[in-house]
Amino acid sequence: MTAEIIDGTKLSEKILEDVKNRIKDSKKRPGLAIVIVGDNPASEIYVGLKEKKSKEMGFQCERYDLSEDIKEEDLLKLIDDLNQKQSIHGIIVQLPLPDHMNENLIVDSVLPHKDVDGFTPVNLGNLINDNNMIVPATARACMELIKSTGIEIKGKNAVIVGRSKIVGKPVSLLLLQEHATVTICHSKTEDLREHTKNADILVAAAGKAKLIKKNMVKKGAVVIDVGINRTLKGLEGDVDFEAVKEVAGYITPVPKGVGPMTIAMLLDNILIAMKLTGK
Ligand code: NAD
Repeated sequence: MTAEIIDGTKLSEKILEDVKNRIKDSKKRPGLAIVIVGDNPASEIYVGLKEKKSKEMGFQCERYDLSEDIKEEDLLKLIDDLNQKQSIHGIIVQLPLPDHMNENLIVDSVLPHKDVDGFTPVNLGNLINDNNMIVPATARACMELIKSTGIEIKGKNAVIVGRSKIVGKPVSLLLLQEHATVTICHSKTEDLREHTKNADILVAAAGKAKLIKKNMVKKGAVVIDVGINRTLKGLEGDVDFEAVKEVAGYITPVPKGVGPMTIAMLLDNILIAMKLTGK
């Protein structure tokens, strides 16, 4: 068996087309503010991508590059100003923040209606209450990719490898909302294979190159690879793609899988935020 490759780029283009049409139909131009603190090279790449794509799509994008040693109170003041600014509908505070900052305090200071990353307690709480408002983009991306296969999620065994607030936990909650039986694995899980081999849907979000081997995957499974690992061989996912595609039913590649879909869902989140603010 050779898995069908889920083309994240192609799927993202459909979503972006829809986003573009909705902007065309709207009287307002959506506004995004991206705040980046310090000079983390990976953050620089991610922010560059978000800025480029949002501008291409017709968003107004303001970028705030702040020095590593900015005081927490000054960052909070900037976020407060952006919270008040009518032309800004979405605010991204790029993570990670420098060690001297209280990340939770900073993230929580973004107005929930403008929190297009979906990381504030209000947005995560809404997700737990099955009352989704703004949902983290990577988790949404995983769901769209799974749904694109046409498989029924209800009643399936879904195994998530990784329990971060950004990916693992929100994707688990979204799969629960779709009535999957969800298992969350993490770095302290004793026998990872014991869980993954039963997965009809497997989401790998551990940040460990080629963690998921062929013998850990059930025949015909849907395998979603969230991992982005920079190795000597270049970019690699968390899944040993070449081997696992021999057994899986569907699989996302890295790159061109979850990555482009995450950007598309983020831009969609900004339109949701614009609707919520009503300005
Ligand atoms: P994280 O470091 O916050 O969390 C990783 C999780 O994996 C933790 O919960 C940890 O317990 C678990 N883990 C680590 N090693 C493990 C192991 N050997 N077995 C089982 N579980 C293990 O990372 P994150 O922010 O959730 O990101 C995960 C990966 O996804 C990273 O590679 C990141 O770059 C990538 N990512 C990609 C996108 C995208 O758009 N494609 C978006 C966000 C994150």
